[in-house]
Amino acid sequence: MSRRKQMVSKIKDLMFDPEKIRNIGIVAHIDHGKTTLSDNLLAGAGMISKELAGSQLFMDFDEQEQARGITIDAANVSMVHEYGGQEYLINMIDTPGHVDFGGDVTRAMRAVDGVVVVVCAVEGAMPQTETVLRQALKERVKPVLFINKVDRLINELKLTPEELQNRFVAIITEFNKLIRNTAPKEFKKKWQVNVNDGSVAFGSAYNNWAISVPLMKKTGLTFKDVIDYNENENQKELAETARIHEILLDIVIKHLPNPLTAQKYRIENMWPGDLKSDIGKSMINCNSKGKLAMMITNINIDPHAGEVATARIFSGEVDRSQDVHLFNRKTTARIQQVGVYIGAERIPIDRVPAGNIAAITGLREAMAGETVSEEPIEPFEEMKHTSEPVVTVAIEAKNMADLAKLIEVLRQIGKEDPTVKVEIDEETGEHLISGMGELHLEIITYRIKQKGVDIDVSKPIVVYREAVVGTCDRVEGKSPNKHNKFYFVVEPLEEDITKALTEGDLKPARFKGKELGREIEKFGMNKLDAKGIKEVYLNNILTDATKGIQYLNEVMSLIQDGFHEAIDNGPLAKERVLGVKVRLVDVKLHEDSIHRGPAQVIPAVRDAIRQAMLNAKTVLQEPKQKVFIQVPQDYMGAVTREIQSRRGQILDMKQEEDLVTIDAKCPVAEMFGFASDIRSSTEGRALWSTEHVGFEKLPNELQEEVIKKIRQRKGLS
Ligand code: GDP
Repeated sequence: MSRRKQMVSKIKDLMFDPEKIRNIGIVAHIDHGKTTLSDNLLAGAGMISKELAGSQLFMDFDEQEQARGITIDAANVSMVHEYGGQEYLINMIDTPGHVDFGGDVTRAMRAVDGVVVVVCAVEGAMPQTETVLRQALKERVKPVLFINKVDRLINELKLTPEELQNRFVAIITEFNKLIRNTAPKEFKKKWQVNVNDGSVAFGSAYNNWAISVPLMKKTGLTFKDVIDYNENENQKELAETARIHEILLDIVIKHLPNPLTAQKYRIENMWPGDLKSDIGKSMINCNSKGKLAMMITNINIDPHAGEVATARIFSGEVDRSQDVHLFNRKTTARIQQVGVYIGAERIPIDRVPAGNIAAITGLREAMAGETVSEEPIEPFEEMKHTSEPVVTVAIEAKNMADLAKLIEVLRQIGKEDPTVKVEIDEETGEHLISGMGELHLEIITYRIKQKGVDIDVSKPIVVYREAVVGTCDRVEGKSPNKHNKFYFVVEPLEEDITKALTEGDLKPARFKGKELGREIEKFGMNKLDAKGIKEVYLNNILTDATKGIQYLNEVMSLIQDGFHEAIDNGPLAKERVLGVKVRLVDVKLHEDSIHRGPAQVIPAVRDAIRQAMLNAKTVLQEPKQKVFIQVPQDYMGAVTREIQSRRGQILDMKQEEDLVTIDAKCPVAEMFGFASDIRSSTEGRALWSTEHVGFEKLPNELQEEVIKKIRQRKGLS
């Protein structure tokens, strides 16, 4: 039997033994070595040639990723590793290293039960380390720590064994603090990493070696030895004694949970359905004999097979040619092929059971995030993306004949990356694409071109929000036939509630009827408003403060429609509204239902809410980004000038040896062209990253001008 065939047959066997499975991801701040480590793990497990590992950047499929040296799509591979005389199946998902693609990271976390967090020994935990760790913990995904680039501590910074240890202790302490601060209560202590039990390893992904305290005890290797190997330029020999893939995969097997263990505490966190139902129990027990339930965490477009979905199976078994139910699409579909990845190759197999991650074709209608099941079930909870689309470009096919193709390509792109929003401008017929930043949109437009459609791309436009800053007297909305009247007041939603909603700590979809109000009351809303809550829509709340009004129930869903319209298009510039509380205070309705239909109720409600918002004073909010920059001291002035010229605010500045770390906050609107400007003003010496931090009020002096510009662009008077 060929090696490959052997591998496939092993994988097929191990798949059915959940205790022998680990579903993992590798996450890191950009440039800390995630790709290099992934390659070396694959090479070590015999999935790609050792010589190519490191140079091939195997998990980076896309050319664009290779050119930029960053990983964009999450792809998955399976490998087999022996530990303690037993073979294990490791399903590894690759996750993007750039927060502009935060949506992909969040979804990948749903598929895995554990992560290896790579932290660069020189830089320590960075902002994105914190972001990805937080995303993992939110999904109850257990972390272990790999401290990478230790060779640089020795060869460049010339640390002594003692200094080396101190540096490690500092990183581990910081890491454990993050876990203590963000992990769910029951795991704050349990998931602390510890050098002595081996849940932390140190090494050099680039040079292929890693050590851990248990290994040092077993082999007698000391930090001093490690330093000697490095100083004698003999890391190759060290890599023979302390093989990185063995150390790391051993840690994965020893310290990260198998799906049987993990699903017991993860399902309740990700699935709002009845845990005592058959399907609930089957998922909790990772039962492959139960009915099928799985979630699509990613979609890749394969040049041959078309759309390939990556799915985590929580219950039952997914079979070739099986008919399944797609929750969001409210439709059924037939699965064509089921497979696993070995390296970049997808191997078709007949069936994949619960506890695994599979590649699936045939689900043409499905999007990433879809709940797929044998029988209709309650959907998996939506995943909160830490970033949301804040920048938009308009695109147009250069060639009218390409229009149909463009629409198809956009459909694919929307599926591959659900954080991208595609809309059609009704008036101009242009396609508007919104993404999480300039880089994100650049990559998307590049992909469209790569798929063979030549397009013109407009300058990027920033997406704003409209928010209320005061309160108002009640405003009346009259229906066109004058027979129905609605009275509203609006005010800003309590800050803590807006925050909890945008950050995903408050999950309205989880609560039905009265429970929703009770939950929101816990976050600080007064009892009366909380009791009347009708719905939470895009982080705005509609509450009913009326009493005993006849027929109100019959028109409530129309009132909600009117509320949606008012929120979707704010009164200032038709930007989306954020963080307002709309209170319905009185209603007069015509007795005859014929006179209170949608055409009467919706516009009356919408216009009254808009007017109320204007009376309560509405302002534009702009998206902001945190910008973290590391730069040699000589360039500090250039960087601060660059930030200040962009209406930026310097939040913190730290200096360590010659390196300055600047922590700033800038409006997204001012960040266009930052990449090339910072490169030229620091001669390419700056390392930087950004993170979305939500919306803040646009300065007063800019309000009018920006509103005017948006209205002009949208053709509003
Ligand atoms: P990612 O952005 O986290 O995927 O990082 P990469 O794996 O692409 O690594 C970023 C850069 O750091 C590349 O130039 C690697 O060659 C380099 N690198 C990765 N690991 C090590 C290491 O252990 N030692 C040194 N000196 N360089 C490393």
